[in-house]
Amino acid sequence: MMRIDILTIFPEFFTEVFDFGIIRRAREAGIVEIGVTDIRDFAADKHRKTDDRPFGGGEGMVMKCEPIFLAVEDLLGTAEREEYPAGTRVVLLTPQGRPLDQALVKDLSDEDGRILIICGRYEGIDERVSEALVTDEISIGDYVLSGGEPAAVVMTDAIIRLLPEALGNESSAERDSFSDGIFDFPNYTQPRNFRGMEVPEVLLGGNHAEIEAWRREKAIDKTRKIRKDLIEGAAVEDPPIKK
Ligand code: SAM
Repeated sequence: MMRIDILTIFPEFFTEVFDFGIIRRAREAGIVEIGVTDIRDFAADKHRKTDDRPFGGGEGMVMKCEPIFLAVEDLLGTAEREEYPAGTRVVLLTPQGRPLDQALVKDLSDEDGRILIICGRYEGIDERVSEALVTDEISIGDYVLSGGEPAAVVMTDAIIRLLPEALGNESSAERDSFSDGIFDFPNYTQPRNFRGMEVPEVLLGGNHAEIEAWRREKAIDKTRKIRKDLIEGAAVEDPPIKK
């Protein structure tokens, strides 16, 4: 079973967020276990203070490193500077990290793995966490959130989708966008005609080879229009853009 631990100063943020759909079912089926740890429980003083003013001056507050080191060591049962058990990833969420993409999600989705996810707040976290505690610094995109909690939900969801058996028969991750470097194909369902907008004829004919070819072409077309960088990285033919 995979185990994911989220370290945060706002544990209430996660009260219900993992109680729906695929994540809920994966938890109930024993495919993944998710724990939430309050970093304040590891603060040294009676006010449970986890942040302080930055050395060198400047605006805002910085999260202290000590409670975070203590929380990680407690969760992993490791002593100071001891190596982590094999298969352990300690992730710091930060806009300064490696951008999260499907390849990185796949790399993190180890069915027997252990992932600790550290959520920052304020101006960020004392740099010694990044220097000496974490194995991966990850960003969910080139924009700045107020805290790592929404990013932790995004990352956890994407990882669990790829665990064996997590999707059941509901859908297939192999078909998803990015699994072969490009977008998924467009889907249609009932009704066949909605306000004059018809479902493409080819999907109604039952010719599977034709449908496959049409879907592939549409997937490449859309990827090329919206994300040309993906087409350049994927081994696909580049069809002409159709109007
Ligand atoms: N001052 C920091 C900087 O400019 O790099 C930003 C701090 S941000 C306001 C507070 C926290 O939100 C960060 O420590 C991080 O945990 C989280 N965060 C913000 N943007 C993020 C992103 N794009 N990906 C992952 N985490 C992010």
